[in-house]
Amino acid sequence: MNQIQRLFDIDPWKIRTTTLDKQNRRLQESLTSIGNGYMGLRGNFEETYSGDHHKGTYLAGIWYPDKTRVGWWKNGYPDYFGKVINAIDFLQMKIFINEVEVDLAKQEMVDFELELNMQNGVLSRSFTVVLGDAKVRFSFERFLSIVKKELAVIKLTAECLSGDATIKIISSLDNNIQNEDSNYEEMFWIEKERGHKEEISFLTAQTVPNNFGIEQFSITAAMKHLGTLEAQVQHDDQLIVSEQFEWTLTAGEAAEVEKRVVILTSRDLPEAKQREAAAELLTTYDQTYDELYKEQSAAWAKRWELADVLIEGDDEAQQGIRYNIFQLFSTYYGDDERLNIGPKGFTGEKYGGATYWDTEAYAVPMYLALAKPEVSKNLLKYRHNQLPEAKINAQKQGLKGALYPMVTFTGIECHNEWEITFEEIHRNGAIAYAIYNYTNYTGDDNYLKQEGLEVLTEIARFWADRVHFSKRNQKYMIHGVTGPNEYENNINNNWYTNTIARWVLKYTLENYLRYQDSTSVIITKEEQVKWQDIIENMYLPEDKELGVFVQHDTFLDKDLMPVSDLAPEDRPLNQKWSWDKILRSCFIKQADVLQGIYFFNDQFSIEEKKRNFEFYEPMTVHESSLSPSVHAVLAAELGKEEKSVEMYQRTARLDLDNYNNDTQDGLHITSMTGSWLAIVQGFAQMKTFNNKLSFAPFLPSKWQSYSFHINYRGRLIAVAVNGDEVALSLKEGTPFNVDIYNQTVELVNEVTVPLIKEG
Ligand code: BGC
Repeated sequence: MNQIQRLFDIDPWKIRTTTLDKQNRRLQESLTSIGNGYMGLRGNFEETYSGDHHKGTYLAGIWYPDKTRVGWWKNGYPDYFGKVINAIDFLQMKIFINEVEVDLAKQEMVDFELELNMQNGVLSRSFTVVLGDAKVRFSFERFLSIVKKELAVIKLTAECLSGDATIKIISSLDNNIQNEDSNYEEMFWIEKERGHKEEISFLTAQTVPNNFGIEQFSITAAMKHLGTLEAQVQHDDQLIVSEQFEWTLTAGEAAEVEKRVVILTSRDLPEAKQREAAAELLTTYDQTYDELYKEQSAAWAKRWELADVLIEGDDEAQQGIRYNIFQLFSTYYGDDERLNIGPKGFTGEKYGGATYWDTEAYAVPMYLALAKPEVSKNLLKYRHNQLPEAKINAQKQGLKGALYPMVTFTGIECHNEWEITFEEIHRNGAIAYAIYNYTNYTGDDNYLKQEGLEVLTEIARFWADRVHFSKRNQKYMIHGVTGPNEYENNINNNWYTNTIARWVLKYTLENYLRYQDSTSVIITKEEQVKWQDIIENMYLPEDKELGVFVQHDTFLDKDLMPVSDLAPEDRPLNQKWSWDKILRSCFIKQADVLQGIYFFNDQFSIEEKKRNFEFYEPMTVHESSLSPSVHAVLAAELGKEEKSVEMYQRTARLDLDNYNNDTQDGLHITSMTGSWLAIVQGFAQMKTFNNKLSFAPFLPSKWQSYSFHINYRGRLIAVAVNGDEVALSLKEGTPFNVDIYNQTVELVNEVTVPLIKEG
């Protein structure tokens, strides 16, 4: 087990600490990130902080193609790596007391408090600075409105506790920002315009030109200040505009300033119109701070009404799931169909805010239950819109059909490590799986009939071309791949990849034949015959003696040993071992065979699931944040409560407890659905296969109860599990049949059955 690192107190609704952890400031910043789907920022301080930290503000869909940088160029590498770039620092409010700059890395300071309220997305912080005779308490509150997406609100209060203090505030919009992970240490921003007009200051910047035909984005930030303002002075410099205020306070006096910022981007408005529109918005958004705060709280309360998972008896678990849902919704709530969910959301630079298979494999299942069906449909449409580019990716590999990228903004592959770009092609299957998942969950086949089939057909064409026929074995095989377990590359016949490729061909063909008359898609007779042959003769490695599916051709020849044999100081392997040692070892980064068993759960017997789980899980290091949830779900199904709860804990508190020792780089946003999956699909065993909703819950022994809501086929259903019973209530929609512990019941209002306890 890795060591955990916990910086914040346990609290069901808050992330709270009274320690300014200077050694782990980056981790603290990641964990106190906030976002509203349109923009987001790490938990940076408003005032100067000269210690190690990472300033980060990100605007959804504002990205830059950073020219590929590799040691040795290989034919077929993408030209650039796309990344959502670090953008304008609009928080900045430098503070000076009697001409001495406040810098918490250096200053004597007491009574520090930092708190993120997950109920409404408000981040607050306060501290008292002691400078000679002067003692001043500063309090900040900030939120990014989820009602008025372009609006950020920051409130600063200064209270003089003793002595006299002249307090100077320099409040800025500062776009002198550089990505830490820029490939050539380039600055991605150039200034277009800056200035002040009446009470509003503004800055317009544009991304630098690129050689790849990607549009240059422009952004405008406008700010105004409200409150106890005296002696305003304005400063300008390249890529920065500032306003300065000064207060002279004596003991017992306080002053307050509220900074309102509006950000507009060329994704919605041409640059020429941005400044006027931003000024207009700042004028239109004329509610008081309290009104805006209330509006924000009410909007979050509405989100929580549906999405909250209530756990009684385990505050750590409770905090974990709320944190994850909070951060997911802060990243993506489905309002803008042009957007997707980056693995780090708005909380860091690694993974560049781009789209990965994570969305289809891990996020769609949760959004299906916690949002309107249109939200998941938008995620599907996003891929449909990128079908032409996915075809280009396949062509670049000399193959037919479409290959969806590992990392992308436009559909064009951006990833540039050969073992992933060229080989981690299983990702293509997840895109198809999401179409199945959506159709199966919602019961709506309209998407499948046309757009869905267009995507499926091209993915199927890719697989039909990517397989080769082994004459010796008389089987179709797929060589030279990387499976979901990225701790092995260039392997042959990865069971998961072969399984999902075969499934795509089968699912596409079946649905083509079903909807042939209502779709414009054409799959030729010749293709149909070929696909059928592949379906019937795909090689799926299996070891009859062990009774397991084999991860890939030579996996069983490895030096097999459990993770428990590893010394704690070897973990995480990816930070401790050389890469070749990892590749040679049997240790598995994340669910691989088990990912397939999770996806196609209804197609395997319980014995098959058990044998494979017991074989592979002990060799799994779960060093991808995506890993624990799949294991939590399967362990629950197999009655392995302790393992399931351990995996829940790991997925729910992955960032809060920094399990993988990398949360300082940003939160693992796409894995955050994992805690919801672990409870709903794991502990409650919710299944939706074959047009049937079923549950078979257990209650973790430490918990007194848990409850949640799901949307399912036009209905809102509440599920509550306690030590005695399972209760299902139909809150909205028409009665229907549900299976509980394999018994079919009609859910009209409420159904209660005794909880079955594992013997
Ligand atoms: C995982 C991938 C995942 C990526 C982004 C990697 O560590 O192995 O499966 O797509 O992270 O989350």
